[in-house]
Amino acid sequence: MRLKSGRTILSCAAGALILLQPAAAFCWGPVGHEAVGFMAEDMVTPQVQTALSQILGGVTLDQIANCADELREAGTDCAGLFDPPLQADDLTAPWHFVNIPLSAKVSQTPATAAIDQYKDCDEAASGPTAEAMKDSMEDCVRGQVQFAVQVLRAPAPELPADAAPGQVQAQAATILRQRRMALMYLVHLEADAHQPLHVTSDNDEGGNAEKVVFQGRRQSLHSVWDGVIGAQSAMDAKALAELLKKDLSQLPQSEIDGWTQGELDAVINAGIGEGFNIAKNTIYPDYFAAKAANPREPTVPLGDDYQSKMQPIAFRRLEQAAVRLAFLLDQSLGQNPEFAPSAEKSSATAGAWRKHGRLNLKKPDLSGATWDGRAPVLPKN
Ligand SMILES: [Zn+2]
Repeated sequence: MRLKSGRTILSCAAGALILLQPAAAFCWGPVGHEAVGFMAEDMVTPQVQTALSQILGGVTLDQIANCADELREAGTDCAGLFDPPLQADDLTAPWHFVNIPLSAKVSQTPATAAIDQYKDCDEAASGPTAEAMKDSMEDCVRGQVQFAVQVLRAPAPELPADAAPGQVQAQAATILRQRRMALMYLVHLEADAHQPLHVTSDNDEGGNAEKVVFQGRRQSLHSVWDGVIGAQSAMDAKALAELLKKDLSQLPQSEIDGWTQGELDAVINAGIGEGFNIAKNTIYPDYFAAKAANPREPTVPLGDDYQSKMQPIAFRRLEQAAVRLAFLLDQSLGQNPEFAPSAEKSSATAGAWRKHGRLNLKKPDLSGATWDGRAPVLPKN
């Protein structure tokens, strides 16, 4: 994996480093991520709930929702899932975003082809250049979500019938660790992919370099969105999840179903494409207008109505993240024959790659994977 420039790595955490506000170092902030975890755990099929409890040993999705951020900063044992704990690793920072330049055009339907041009994480290197295309899938949020889905979907490689008990045990431990790692990333990164300023940048680190005043506090535009436009300081994750579930229950089911239509890749891209268009058509124009109205201000006041204007948009993004996360879990763990109900196990393998079966990447070869808080080993085409 190519090492990213310091500038790129700062994208998510720049607000924290510049403004010394620890909360800005998180993506969506801990409350937003946990709320997505709470909701998704409720939405997956009973079969997937069982698979999750087998893999996580009773630890819940909200409890692991922020581990990928903790890993970057200080390392993490992720609610006790990793012993020894994963070491701090800030080179995973680019996995949390993709800086599609604000000037790009990304149609919402279908989003796939347009986003394929922006596989590289950093806008400075994005576009259909050879360099950008070469290693892009490892680095950005989309490639990492795809990879996690593949790991969770793959059954353990078959061992020879005469394998020694030690070999069987060692493989089981490796696979368990990889699946925990995949869940840790998937739960977090699919939510990050729905933060509009994680998928867009105006050469400003996704809004981290835009200094604003919101609710009397100087921060970056990016961190206002990470804090769910004030919700993070007003309520805990459980309360936010309840609020969002209630909001979702008032939407027509057909609208919610529309969020998970198409192939897996299209569903993943749809989340990114929507967020990009919200940033391009709403967040940045609003910010530029506020900036133009206050030309002498070193920080841009966002106005008293910013919360009432933008919070419903942020809430919908979290709802869509939860629905799509549950879908990705159903389409990965729910399609893994190892977790099929025992009565169906014999026929599960044949059906395992049915509906929503296509991903651009090859099925991962788990036998050689080393995904220990470092770069995952991705199959190369
Ligand atoms: Zn993140």
